[in-house]
Formats: sequence, C-alpha cells, structure tokens
Amino acid sequence: MRLIMLGPPGAGKGTQAEILRSRFDAVHLSTGDVLRRHVDTQSELGRKAKTFMDKGELVPDDVIIAMVEDELKGRKDFILDGFPRTLAQADALGALLERLALPLDAVICLAARQDVLVERLSSRWVNPRTGRTYNTQSNPPKVAGRDDDDGGELIQRPDDRSETVRRRLEVYDAQTAPLIAYYEQRGLLRQVDALAPIDQVTAAVIACIQTVGAGKHGA
Ligand code: AMP
Repeated sequence: MRLIMLGPPGAGKGTQAEILRSRFDAVHLSTGDVLRRHVDTQSELGRKAKTFMDKGELVPDDVIIAMVEDELKGRKDFILDGFPRTLAQADALGALLERLALPLDAVICLAARQDVLVERLSSRWVNPRTGRTYNTQSNPPKVAGRDDDDGGELIQRPDDRSETVRRRLEVYDAQTAPLIAYYEQRGLLRQVDALAPIDQVTAAVIACIQTVGAGKHGA
C-alpha cells in the first residue's frame, strides 16, 4: 500500500499513519521525524534544517526531496506523513514513483478547523525516543508526563509553541493546501473529518483505502 497522509499540522497524520503502519505492514515515513533525528544527531542536514523548523518554515525542497529519495530506497509499501508539502515536492515524488513503477493508491486528507488545531498542538506531548504522541485533552498518557510504553519523560516540541504553530498553519495554507486540488485532479484524494475520535478517523481512512482498492480491481 502506498499512501500519502495530507492535512494541516495537528490533524493527526502521524497518529493515523502509526496505526495504519501496523495494520498494513507498511513503512511510516514522517519527514518531520527524520528531520528531528538529524537535528538531534547534529548532522549537517540537521543543522541546516533546524533554522527553518524553529521558525515554522519549510525546509528547502531540494534537501527534502533528496532525503525522501534516500529513505524510500527499496521500499514498496509506505505511508508518507508530512511529505509532500509543496507542489515541487509532489512533482518530484510523482516522477520518482513513475520511474519505479510504484503508483500511489490514495491521498488521505485529514480536514480540521484551524482554531481546533492550535488548541490540539499546544496540548500535544511527545515521547522523544519513539515519536509516540499524546494529547492532554483527547488522548492523555496513563500517568501525566510519562510514556505508557517506556515510562520515560514526555516533552513538548519547541515548534508547538503558539506563535510558531500559527506560522506553521499559515505556511500550510500557502504552500501545502494547493496539493488538495493537485491530487483531486489526479483522482487520488479522499477527505476524512479529522475531528472525530481517533478510532472513527481510522475506520474512515480504512474505508477510503478499501474503496480505492475495489476501484483498482474493477469492483
Ligand atoms: P512535522 O513534524 O511534519 O510537523 O514537521 C516539522 C517541521 O519539519 C516542519 O514545520 C518543517 O519545518 C519541517 N518539514 C517536515 N516535513 C517537511 C517537508 N516535506 N518539506 C519541508 N519541510 C518539512
């Protein structure tokens, strides 16, 4: 299965991609997570990316495209989360997948209102070791501030502060939202209400995937 999770920051792309990954035996590729790993290890790419990430801006297309090409090497099934984020990235992905004869199955757009997203992002806590996310309102950890799996400390991402969140949402509207029409024109887009409870969103996403699968097999 080859899927793109599209939608604004805070819509739940990472949460859904993680659930789908285990159900469909696909790789979950989050460009944000890959970048944060580079920042943590202070690689050259990480140092370059950090200046953009801290401001809520996008990392330049050439850097991201090269990074994704590298991460996708040898993969046939994947769920992309946070990529593509610009038309140039979408074109580059299209060219890469055409070259590899690996067409996309669907692009799932998780739709949500901006005021809810600001609220969601500012109550988001993350396990920095595994990337597992919690929300203090809708999906709290069993023990406040501690991960359910390893018991370690949860942190807030620096770019989840409200000023940076607002900038990330502006950047989404200006640079990423045009991808909705882009994939709609290619017959790949499916919209899901991101504000429903997590399991209902998952059920809706799986229903979309099955519809696409049925269409592909002529049913
Ligand atoms: P995310 O975890 O997906 O919200 O990404 C965090 C930050 O990483 C974004 O605000 C961008 O600075 C950067 N980033 C992640 N994915 C991309 C991408 N596809 N293109 C450009 N920048 C990205």
